[in-house]
Amino acid sequence: MNAQLHRRMVLGGLGAAGLAGCAASPAVLVRPSRPDFQRPPLAPLLTDPGRLSRITVCTRPFRAAGPRIEAEAIGDKRVVHNYGHGGSGWSLSWGSAAAARDLALEGGQPEVAVIGCGALGLTAALQILRSGARTTIYAAERTPHTRSARATGVWSPDSRIAAESAVSADFSARWEAMARRSWAEHHAFVGLDGEPVKFIDQYSLRGPRGGNASVGPEPTPGRVDFVRYEPRLQGLTPSSRALRPEEHPFPVESARVFPQMTFNVAEYARQLTEAFLMEGGRIVERTFHHPSELVELPQPVVVNCTGYGARALFGDESVVPVRGQIAWLTPQPEVTYALWYRSISMVPRADGIVIQANGSSQMVGYGVEDETPDRADAERALAALAPLFAAV
Ligand SMILES: Cc1cc2nc3c(=O)[nH]c(=O)nc-3n(C[C@H](O)[C@H](O)[C@H](O)COP(=O)(O)OP(=O)(O)OC[C@H]3O[C@@H](n4cnc5c(N)ncnc54)[C@H](O)[C@@H]3O)c2cc1C
Repeated sequence: MNAQLHRRMVLGGLGAAGLAGCAASPAVLVRPSRPDFQRPPLAPLLTDPGRLSRITVCTRPFRAAGPRIEAEAIGDKRVVHNYGHGGSGWSLSWGSAAAARDLALEGGQPEVAVIGCGALGLTAALQILRSGARTTIYAAERTPHTRSARATGVWSPDSRIAAESAVSADFSARWEAMARRSWAEHHAFVGLDGEPVKFIDQYSLRGPRGGNASVGPEPTPGRVDFVRYEPRLQGLTPSSRALRPEEHPFPVESARVFPQMTFNVAEYARQLTEAFLMEGGRIVERTFHHPSELVELPQPVVVNCTGYGARALFGDESVVPVRGQIAWLTPQPEVTYALWYRSISMVPRADGIVIQANGSSQMVGYGVEDETPDRADAERALAALAPLFAAV
């Protein structure tokens, strides 16, 4: 594609045919096979590092065996664990929380405590409450201060969720059940005010040979055989489509597009918190330093949704930190598409444009607990994205 056409599409100066095609309902009026068809213009992302407003870092709670969802007795309490969801906590939240809820309410418990107010705590607490039990969340931090608030916010149900060599024989089936249930539940939030969950067209771009080097921190040495389960959801989630050059404005060799489910994490967490409180739940600020402190709680059942915090609280060293960093550009409401290019993801959210440099493998950040922001990493990612918009 020549630079002039690129500039025209990015800036929005479509020709008469394109404009006519965009009127009213393009899905009905315009067929992609028409030679004069052009997709609606895409507003350029502003990649100036001066637009960075913050950099956040958090640790994904990875367990090689997958999330721990099981009950144990501690003193006279029944403790149901629901932690260790790696890079998939938001995606799998509803399905995992439903499994924890079922364990918590075995025997018809009237009152339940939930420890943790992140993605897993909020969804578990809401489901337990809606099943009829009086429910109290105890947490050291609430949104927006939890690690969950620092997630990218995309459907990524098998991201660093487990290692092939460490999972039990039935794990993939349990994962699939959690993923399918969560996928369905997330839909209840599509189209609501504030758009806590919405679909965004994501463009996956490939530059010319030699121009696709991944951008991001160096991977940790070693290898973990992370599971790859998304193919099990084929037919459930939307699939991608290869684009012809005239269907996109990017100066790359090939491009695909697919509707990506995204979570506006700030709004999603706010709505879950509000629903929980309005429906009669209680939230108490409290930090636990040892499992023996759970015995002091008045509730007979405790659901443990402490995420990475479970490593310290329960001494569970099977929880491995996987560091991840997000650079936030100030919001650009006109940017309505997501990108994946050179392993960098860009997701536009109402609270900012989320940029993440994922590097060359899933070993990036593995075993790294340091949550200090790295501005140079953020600026490298922006510099790598800039040529996509150079013609503007
Ligand atoms: C950079 C990055 C991007 C990510 N992007 C995505 C994504 O796009 N999609 C996705 O699905 N997942 C994503 N994830 C993963 C996701 O963020 C996690 O899996 C998820 O946040 C885990 O949620 P949680 O509720 O288990 O833990 P947390 O959010 O950490 O919540 C734990 C709760 O427990 C409380 N707590 C902990 N210890 C104690 C204690 N001792 N006493 C009292 N309270 C305690 C905390 O205060 C908090 O309220 C990403 C992760 C990272 C790092």
